[in-house]
Order: sequence, then C-alpha cells, then structure tokens
Amino acid sequence: MRGSGIVYLVGAGPGDPGLMTRRSLELIATADAILYDRLIPPGALDGAPKGADVRYVGKRPGQSALTQDEINDLLVELGRAGRRVVRLKGGDPFVFGRGGEEAEALAAAGVAFEVVPGVTAGVAAPAYAGIPVTHRDAASAVAFVTGHEDPEKADSALDWEALARFPGTLVLYMGVRNLPLVTERLVAAGRDPAEAAAVVERGTLPDQRTVTATLSEIASRVEEEGIRPPAVTAIGPVAGLRETIAWLERRPLYGEVVAVTRARAQASGLAARLRELGAEVVETPAIRIEARPVRLAGLADYALVCLTSPNGVRLLFEALGNLGLDARAFAGATVAAIGPGTAAELAGHGIRADVVPERSVAEALVDALASVQVEGRRVLVARASEARDVLPEALRKRGAEVDVLPLYDTLGERLTDGQLEALSRATYVTFTSSSTVRFLLESGGRVPDSARVVSIGPITSRALREHGLDVHVEAERHDVDGLVAALTEDAAARRVPAA
Ligand code: SAH
Repeated sequence: MRGSGIVYLVGAGPGDPGLMTRRSLELIATADAILYDRLIPPGALDGAPKGADVRYVGKRPGQSALTQDEINDLLVELGRAGRRVVRLKGGDPFVFGRGGEEAEALAAAGVAFEVVPGVTAGVAAPAYAGIPVTHRDAASAVAFVTGHEDPEKADSALDWEALARFPGTLVLYMGVRNLPLVTERLVAAGRDPAEAAAVVERGTLPDQRTVTATLSEIASRVEEEGIRPPAVTAIGPVAGLRETIAWLERRPLYGEVVAVTRARAQASGLAARLRELGAEVVETPAIRIEARPVRLAGLADYALVCLTSPNGVRLLFEALGNLGLDARAFAGATVAAIGPGTAAELAGHGIRADVVPERSVAEALVDALASVQVEGRRVLVARASEARDVLPEALRKRGAEVDVLPLYDTLGERLTDGQLEALSRATYVTFTSSSTVRFLLESGGRVPDSARVVSIGPITSRALREHGLDVHVEAERHDVDGLVAALTEDAAARRVPAA
C-alpha cells in the first residue's frame, strides 16, 4: 500500500456547523486518520468512522502543541503509509491556516494531496454581524491582515503606511490583545480615526458578540466589553452598514439558550426549529426510546387502531414490515391519532387518520371517539409500555375488546457533565412528555432558577408541578410547532417592557 495514501487539507469553516462544505463532510466520513486544530466547529468530527485515528494537534493549556515541522512530518508519514488523511482546520486552510506550508511539505515528499477550501472567518464573522466586507458604494477591495500573536511584535511584518492607504476594508485576524497597538499604528500612519470599525467575537457561533466604534475608540470598547479570542476586526465604512443590515440579533430567540430534554432521536426537528429562530440549543436528552419485541399477527381483526405517539407509529410500521405487511394492513380499520404529531407521522406512511382530537391528551381522544362504534368490536391501542390507561379503560367500558400493544420502553439517559453545565446556562427548558420531567430530575438534571419552564401540554405540566416546578409556558397545541410558538410568544412578551 506504500505510496497510495492521500492527504486532504480541509477547511471546516468558521464555527457554525452548517457552514461546513459537503466535500469536508464526505472526507471526514471516509477518513482513516484525522488531524485537527482547536477552532473547528462543534460536532465537526461526529461523522468520523468509528475506527478512525483522530488526533488533536493544536495547542493545549499547559502542554506544548506539535510544532509545524512535526505536523508536516506526521502528514507525510501517514500519507506514505497509505492512509486517507484529513487535516482539518478552522476557516479556510490557505487563509492564515499554514495550509500552504503543509502542501509544500507534501509536494516535496511526493505525497498526493487535495485542498478543500472552507468559509473563512474574516468574511463569515462580519457577514453574521451584518457587515459585507465589500460593497458597491462602500468598499471595492478587502485586505486580510494578520499580525504576530505577541503584542510587542505586532508590527514586525506589517507595512502600516500601506495598510493606512489601502482603499478598502481591512479585516484583521489576530488576537484582541494587539488591537490597541494596531489601531494606534494605523491612525499614526494616516488612517482616518473616525472610520467605522467592528470586532466580532466567536463569529457564526451561537454566542457571537459584536462591538462597534470608530477606529480610534474600538480598542477601548473591546476592552470594556471583555471581548476575547477568537475575534476578527473589520475596519472600513462597511462596518457602519451593520446598523441597517444586522440580522442575527433580530431573530426572535436570539440570546436565548433553550434546553431540549426529549430523546436524542426525536430532538432534531425541535432543535432545528429553535435554531432557525436564533436560539442556542443545548441538547440534554433525559430519555431514550428502546423498541420492544412485538407480538402481532396483523391488523385484520381490528375495527379501530389507536396510536398515541409518533414513536408508536414508527415502530408499528416496523413491526408490520417485519411481517411483510405495509399500509394496506390498515385497510379495514378506523385509525385514530392522539394529536397532530402522531397524525403527521401516520401521513408520512400513507395513512390519513380518521380521528384526531383538538387537544393531544387521552381524554380528548376518548371524547373524539364517541361517535365511533366500538361495542363488541376489537380495538388495538399501540403505545409506549408505560402509559396511562385512560384510553383502553374508556373503550372497554363502552364494550370494546381492547388489546394494548406495548411497542417501546422509555428509559432514563444519564447526562454528561458537559450537558449538565449546558443545562445550567439555559434560559428556557422544554419538556415534551412527563417522562422527560421525571428522568431529567432523576438523572441529577436541575432546572436553573432563572430559566422559564416550557411544557408541551397539561399532562406534562402536571408532572412538572408534581416535581415542584413552576410551569411558565404551556403550549396551546400539544406538538412541536405548538411548543415553539408558545415559547417564541413568551420570549417576545418578555422583550418589550410591559406597558
Ligand atoms: N484559517 C482560519 C484562520 C486561522 S487564524 C480562517 O480561514 O478563518 C485564527 C484567527 O482566525 C483567530 O485569531 C481569529 O482572528 C480568526 N477566527 C477564527 N475563527 C473565528 C470566529 N469564529 N470568529 C471570529 N474570528 C475567528
């Protein structure tokens, strides 16, 4: 295999995982070895193969990082050993990423390589702050500038006169510690002290912060606000456009940290909706769903089939699939769904529910079924193993012969220290079932005193109160959309000072 390896110099973008390129994700998913730095997006390595050799080669507190020569040698060695190597860097590999040096080393050693550009922080962080680095009327050129990490040496490689004269936006990639010296030098060399400037900290990440001021005042504003690396500075009239086109901060849930306690497998839809509205989402899954072996011959005997959760629908279809059956198994039956989420999951499998109550609770489903003839008929209630018996009991009282089919168990999930820490920062904690309440508290999760508690509906609210928690927001519609709507409304109401 000697000699058939390849090294990919890959940019991972500025921090928002959504800004990683398709190519970068493909390569991460098929790498034998991954060497990465500090500033890569959270979760960037989630798609790496299980057996991949994943190494951190950046700086660590108290420990020296590998030197650039050591990294170059390692890349050459792994490439020569026939490995598929991903060298993953923040932003773009060729913009202040030392990717050029790595490519030179690989070329010199005769190891094959490919360069995968990434979205660079100097363009992306300003963009997320509402600052276009070029603009037809305000800047027809942009310069990317870096300095030395050591403030004493900040000027060594830079031509201040040239930068002061540069007819366009200056984007500085460097430690904020250098800013006082750099801005002073620029002004001394003739740059307009009244020019607009902006510093963007942790651009494109959920806790991005931006400070704006004139060039002569920006360094002291940054100091006052306690801005820390990583940060980029944009200097030029374009920085003033932020006043009109800042967009991130105007999102309805900007600045909110929302904890999602539902099972990881079900969390993504809710998390995505919240992120789109500008929230930082922390996933603190309190439960997990475990499918049970199902004893079922088919649905032919049943006049009525009741489903009480989207998970139930999914697993019932799996069970039918195992029997070689599909949606046609429902042909003779009336189909009832407890709410819109369950109905939507059914629709995804080609079944339109005949009965969906207004409110997603068992009592409402019982009412909604009042006009369905069940006396002397067989009814299937497919659901979680642990659930209230309201529905089967009510149907039995009406003379139905009810089979309860337990499809899954809901189990508690241990939260990691990182998740517990994230939970402690939450401004909203969302609960989508009574089991999320019980298991979160049992696994040591604590709802911060200052957080608003959001419940999907009355049954979950009751569980919250039984556990001594106040319910600040209860969804009117008991599904994900209803929960998101109620949370957003609450956030809006709290933003405008009460009249
Ligand atoms: N190759 C990277 C830059 C590496 S140099 C790129 O193309 O983006 C590291 C510098 O990049 C940091 O000191 C900081 O100035 C900037 N930087 C990286 N990520 C950033 C982010 N999310 N927000 C603001 N600046 C960032």
